[in-house]
Amino acid sequence: MTTPAHAPPPPARRAPDLRLATLVELDAGRLADLGVDGVLLDVDETLVPAGVHEPSAAVAGWVAQVRARGLRVAGVSNGAPKRVANVARAVGIPAVSLAGKPWPGTFRRAAARLDLPPHRVAMVGDQWFTDVLGAYLAGLRTVQVTPLSDGGLPHTRLLRRVERRLERRRTHALGATDEGRSADGVAQRRG
Ligand SMILES: [Mg+2]
Repeated sequence: MTTPAHAPPPPARRAPDLRLATLVELDAGRLADLGVDGVLLDVDETLVPAGVHEPSAAVAGWVAQVRARGLRVAGVSNGAPKRVANVARAVGIPAVSLAGKPWPGTFRRAAARLDLPPHRVAMVGDQWFTDVLGAYLAGLRTVQVTPLSDGGLPHTRLLRRVERRLERRRTHALGATDEGRSADGVAQRRG
């Protein structure tokens, strides 16, 4: 079967709902657009750069503001328990370490711990494969942020290279348009 030349490109179904430079850009309006009551946060390169143990004042302030608005917030990291617990404690949220991302069950369980259905929760992370894909498959909204540093563990850097290659292929397949996205950058998700 051939595709007519004028056919629109397929929607970017596994693209994140939102792409931001940093977590603190996820403001009240964007959270409202996503329609969520809870936020799950990746730790490494999302809350803190590689090798840094203390979140910035901006990140800590963002977490405090979001919680003050009544949203439920927790960390979900594949990182080591001690590091994850220290970072989470610094911003006053619970967190799961050695979480098993990108397994979709990880995200479903994390949403259940917030006492929310998956579609009322946004997963925010810097890695498409680890944070976005699994959360998408579990039915969560997804936000991909730019990594806070170029560092990270060797396997993380390798995975990022693979992700960038997949991203280029997907973008190429979609053409120049960012199909499925509304003007404010929030994708129109599946029903
Ligand atoms: Mg990360």
